Amino acid sequence: MRAIAHSVVSFLLSFSLSLPPAAEPPLDLSSLDLSAFSNLDPSIQAVNIHILAGTPPNPLNGNFDDEKCSPAQVTAIRNGIVDARNMATGAIALLKPKDMNKSNGFFWIFGGSTVDPAIITKHFSFVLRLGTADEITSTKKYENSKTDLIFTCIPPTAPKATSAYANTQNIGRQKSVLNLIRLSPTGLANTESYTIAAARVKTSGQIQDGFPVKQVGTLSVPAPPLAFTIVHEVQHADPLMDNPATDHLVDEKGGTGARAYGFQQIMHELSKDQKARNPQNYAFFGLLAASNPELFVPNCYIGDAPLSLAPLLIAGRLRMQTSLGPDTCHTTVPGACAACKKIIKGIPGDVKLPNFDPDST
Ligand SMILES: [Zn+2]
Repeated sequence: MRAIAHSVVSFLLSFSLSLPPAAEPPLDLSSLDLSAFSNLDPSIQAVNIHILAGTPPNPLNGNFDDEKCSPAQVTAIRNGIVDARNMATGAIALLKPKDMNKSNGFFWIFGGSTVDPAIITKHFSFVLRLGTADEITSTKKYENSKTDLIFTCIPPTAPKATSAYANTQNIGRQKSVLNLIRLSPTGLANTESYTIAAARVKTSGQIQDGFPVKQVGTLSVPAPPLAFTIVHEVQHADPLMDNPATDHLVDEKGGTGARAYGFQQIMHELSKDQKARNPQNYAFFGLLAASNPELFVPNCYIGDAPLSLAPLLIAGRLRMQTSLGPDTCHTTVPGACAACKKIIKGIPGDVKLPNFDPDST
């Protein structure tokens, strides 16, 4: 608890340090009710986590047992799971303060003050259910076991290796008999911690700096930190959910009919309800929680936008000139109002990530 409170203080301090010290009032943490964390006990692990390990057969057999992870990939996935849990913990801490949904940042990522942050928190809590993974060499004995989830590594020579970053499968959906989170060579291309990626975004102010371009075979692709991809895939993974019937998320489609995977897409092409149900919005929020927490300070909003029921209009999809109303930033956190003002029309920068995981079900 103390560590979490400390991390919240660190978030808040991390952007106020550059301001004149005379202007800084003491931080009031009384509104940070941390008691709800007792409901997010990560020791309750209803699912066993495995990594399919070994050397892919040559030639490939054309089944999931082809997707064996090398020792380096096993290590990357283990580290990625720990990193994703940390990302989720940071996101949950940032979502906790009362009225944080009245912030320009929350408006752009999750739709504004009519969206309950507790729902968003619940989806991040599913990431905390990823426990320590063991290594297995065959998927056979886990067929139709709803309490087992297996990470696999799609070989570079597999037909689908370059067509997606990842793919999640669930028992009972689309005739699958296994619960899988499958990572492709592009999904595994960036094994750095999300905190390193976030530090670059913080410095440059450009979201794309969290996604270094990697060469994978003949492809050059922006590569998210593995934690980003895992936070996304968990939103498709039934075994980690309270109630898969209502908690399972499917990638939402924007106005153009394409699934919203890019940063500008997830802010500007989705309705309020879609934003709260689009896995990629969670992944980007997890990264921004580390890089730019100042965008999510409670009561840090300008005009009516963060309170509005009509985000698409204000978001500029119709390119209308909309009055933003009076300057109504109510927070006293130093620097926060200025940060919110900068994102009245959205958070700048873009990374597109096409075909992130179009076949996840
Ligand atoms: Zn997805």
